[in-house]
Amino acid sequence: MLARLIDTLAPRSCTICGGRLTVTEEVMCACCNQSLPRTGYARNACDNRLVRLFWGRIPIERGASLFFYKAHSDTSRLLYQLKYGGHPETGELLGRLVADEFAAGGFFDGITALVPVPLARQRERERGYNQSVEIARGISTAAGIPVVGDVLERISFHGSQTQKSRWERNENVEKAFRLTDASAVRNRHVLLVDDVITTGATLVAAARELFKAGNVKVSVLSLGFANNE
Ligand SMILES: [Zn+2]
Repeated sequence: MLARLIDTLAPRSCTICGGRLTVTEEVMCACCNQSLPRTGYARNACDNRLVRLFWGRIPIERGASLFFYKAHSDTSRLLYQLKYGGHPETGELLGRLVADEFAAGGFFDGITALVPVPLARQRERERGYNQSVEIARGISTAAGIPVVGDVLERISFHGSQTQKSRWERNENVEKAFRLTDASAVRNRHVLLVDDVITTGATLVAAARELFKAGNVKVSVLSLGFANNE
């Protein structure tokens, strides 16, 4: 009843096509949801193209992304809205969606903590929220796994990233995180949560810090996977 009333007073629209959402639809309409270029990786979470990105860099248990991310496409519109649209609840709803889809294949079995990839403090202040935290919150609700925040701190670097050479940017990523609470992840199987994965460098750096806590297993999850090689 209440949902119907709200829908009449303030109709919600699909983040991708802009069409009106029905009462039961969230974030995107059924059509756009069906058209998402899903990776299917959750069904093969120990060996897929995302997981192979980490081989030889860090030990990884499982990894999956919901869809392939492409610039100037529906998926980039979705992630842009999530990051800059000022609607943090979009992240939580997508987190619930991905958790429901992945849980069926046992993706979350044995995972005992969710760690969203942190933003630098100033970045988060400017944006008002961290999209990865919102996604993790949605996963937590659906999968019943706690979010452990404040485990990693993101170190901010001065100067614009775009003005730096590729080598300098890589250097920055490698030292981008600091473990701030080892006891929160020690002896745990941690799922690192991010909105989009491209080269994996950010998650490698984050995982290396987590391993310092001792006896930590790491798996990764993202909404988008932008590696098109
Ligand atoms: Zn749509």
